[in-house]
Amino acid sequence: MLVDSHCHLDGFQNNEIAGILVRAKEVNVDLVVTVGTTLQNSFRAVELSTIFPNIWAGIGIHPMEVDKEFDQEAYKTFSDLIDSTDRVIAISEIGLDFLDTSPDRFLQYQVFREQIRFARERMLPIIFHSRESYSETLKVLREEHAYDVGGIMHYFQGSEAIAWEAIDLGFYISLAKPFLRSEDLQSVVKSIPLENIVLETDAAPQPFKDNRQKWTEPRHVYDIASKLSEIKNISFAQVEEVTTKNFFNIMHKSF
Ligand SMILES: [Zn+2]
Repeated sequence: MLVDSHCHLDGFQNNEIAGILVRAKEVNVDLVVTVGTTLQNSFRAVELSTIFPNIWAGIGIHPMEVDKEFDQEAYKTFSDLIDSTDRVIAISEIGLDFLDTSPDRFLQYQVFREQIRFARERMLPIIFHSRESYSETLKVLREEHAYDVGGIMHYFQGSEAIAWEAIDLGFYISLAKPFLRSEDLQSVVKSIPLENIVLETDAAPQPFKDNRQKWTEPRHVYDIASKLSEIKNISFAQVEEVTTKNFFNIMHKSF
């Protein structure tokens, strides 16, 4: 079995998700984590996880969606959401995004730190986003003792040094579609042990692509696993077994 450790299925209709899961299952992608980016769509992520047995949920506020502090109200909303189900397995998608057009950085830091504290209180792993902010993101994770819960550095595109810094902090490296085409990333991944790697698609609706067949879906974890077996010169079966085992280790849970 393969796992898509991070995607955004909340924007799809339920009947379309049923088809997405069938296509995933055809290539043995049998467990999918759909994650929120706002309070509102975190509810939708949880809803999907209660409808579809193969879907599990992450809840969180994405740095690009930060527009106010993570306060007591947000804390209570997330806390109640977790208590309403056993389907929430991670705090995600949280992190820092330092593009010029990204939200106010002071606010991003506040929301990120508070969500790490929340994850530690609930003992849930963190799946984090970092763009133009590697050292700042890892520094916050270290200062907030995120290694108590660990988790995943999502959509990894960094250097070998950044990978090792994240691994030393108790995080796994998650490979997505950029790994299929970036030779720089492929060469970095050669030096990262398979025991520290998980796979994902970050799939979300892509209406800007006219051809629906070209939309990224959880089934593309198969392509990433194939490329990983080629780059590391190991069998596909080994990639499948180890990356899935890694995912279970992170989640401290059997499925
Ligand atoms: Zn994402």
